[in-house]
Amino acid sequence: MTAYPTSPLMGQMMDQPLLVSSVIAFAARHYGGNEIVSRRVEGDIHRYTYRDCELRARRMAQALTGLGVQMGDRVATLAWNGYRHMELYYAVSGSGAVLHTINPRLHPEQIAYIINHAEGQYLFFDMTFLPAIEAMARHCKTIKGYVAMCERAHMPLETSIPTLLCYEDLIATSSGQYAWPQFDERSAASLCYTSGTTGNPKGALYSHRSTVLHAYASAMPNALNVSAADTVLPVVPMFHVNAWGLPYSVPLSGAKMVFPGPALDGKSLYELFESEGVTFSAGVPTVWLGLVNHVLQNDLRFSSFRRTVIGGSACPPAMMDTLIDQLGVEVVHAWGMTEMSPLGTACTLMGRHKTLPAAEQRAVLRKQGHAIYGVDMKIVDDDGSELPWDGSTYGHLLVKGPWVVSGYFRGEGGDVLQDGWFPTGDVATIDADGYLQITDRSKDVIKSGGEWIGSIDLENVAMSHPAVLQAACIGVQHPKWSERPLLVVVKRPGADVTREELLAWFDDKVAKWWIPDDVVFTEALPMGGTGKIQKNKLRDIYHEHRLPTA
Ligand code: AMP
Repeated sequence: MTAYPTSPLMGQMMDQPLLVSSVIAFAARHYGGNEIVSRRVEGDIHRYTYRDCELRARRMAQALTGLGVQMGDRVATLAWNGYRHMELYYAVSGSGAVLHTINPRLHPEQIAYIINHAEGQYLFFDMTFLPAIEAMARHCKTIKGYVAMCERAHMPLETSIPTLLCYEDLIATSSGQYAWPQFDERSAASLCYTSGTTGNPKGALYSHRSTVLHAYASAMPNALNVSAADTVLPVVPMFHVNAWGLPYSVPLSGAKMVFPGPALDGKSLYELFESEGVTFSAGVPTVWLGLVNHVLQNDLRFSSFRRTVIGGSACPPAMMDTLIDQLGVEVVHAWGMTEMSPLGTACTLMGRHKTLPAAEQRAVLRKQGHAIYGVDMKIVDDDGSELPWDGSTYGHLLVKGPWVVSGYFRGEGGDVLQDGWFPTGDVATIDADGYLQITDRSKDVIKSGGEWIGSIDLENVAMSHPAVLQAACIGVQHPKWSERPLLVVVKRPGADVTREELLAWFDDKVAKWWIPDDVVFTEALPMGGTGKIQKNKLRDIYHEHRLPTA
């Protein structure tokens, strides 16, 4: 940790640490009657207020202390978006322990690896995951007890899980005579592992300070723009980078919160959006695919939904156009990563953009956006020299800021910073107004004849074809050019397009030498645990694909 010099004249403001517990304490005191509504694993709807949430979080914090959980101990969760998970966000971190959210969509071996690597003490889980826990419990060496997030009546009668506790029993047997402890804001608050497409996942260990600052900054109008007038439904899971900070930024803003539980299909989401009057949501493009298709196929419209943040992978322009033009939903394209808590940029227009023709405004909105205060970024060439912000020069993207990792948990990966900057592994351009556009992950760029071809651009063009549901572009070996683009496409149900028609679609939309050499049609693309297309798997599948010789 850097030791900064102190001034002979220090400010005279209260020295109050930025602690995660202060967020829920604020919401309970100042927006105490505002609601948190959850679709439960049991299928029913549960509703209560921020006041109830904070009290139950304190009771759970008290219970954890009773179980012997100490400051810095890791407490894991395997759970959907719901009120009990929210309580744990505050109970665990608020007590000084570290909330370790685990992505249940990861391979069981990776989950066991993560739990052991984090040396978790307790594991809380939604009943959906009971069979998974039973299968993996014997591999989890450090876990002292498992807590089923349910009432006594829903506890399994027989199970192989060694020490199984009941969530509601823990709450019921705690008095709530517990005051949130105060401690150094740089203490660890939560832990989230990267998805680890190559090698083992690595842990990003967030502090209380980084979490609160990120929540503050991400709620601002240039970013997510959350206020007490909103009703927010985070589709992005609480096990994926803390649902992009929404469990903190929503109570901090006093907005009503709606949790979808495990029901993430288009129909269930649409019903909840309508019944609870959701105004704002956030998620990866794949979930919007399901929701938008459901709405269009059934000729429905949203009555309250006004704005959504889309990130995690590039928002296809066609999806953005449908949401804005057909469904009247404003789209904020955002970029970030686990190592950045996650928010880095968000795409909203500046005042002077408002006079631009609609098509030019849309071109700005398609980018991943402008840095939010707290995040600095730059693009560099292979030698580390900074590249110009001209919107066309692309380079490796580096970032820094108080909610960007300085290294991985337990030193994995060694010294990752380059002169104090974190290398994101993304390739991007930045324009003169400071808007970032991601062209690719550096390991996904297609290197053709010494030049780079950005796969995201090609995928966006393919997905603007009416017959294309999903598209991914990968580089495959080519004797002359080293690599050439291969387009892998999933067609929309009932729609048809030929290889030749699709290739002709690229004419005049990208440089001629960028046009893919071939197209293959498939039923489904391999998706990772966080809703991203697994290009490494696609490269393995099409490793020996022979491109047609021109
Ligand atoms: P994760 O840590 O799983 O959230 O993944 C972070 C990575 O997702 C980033 O480094 C990008 O490669 C990718 N990503 C996130 N948001 C976007 C976006 N809006 N457009 C393109 N790629 C994105």
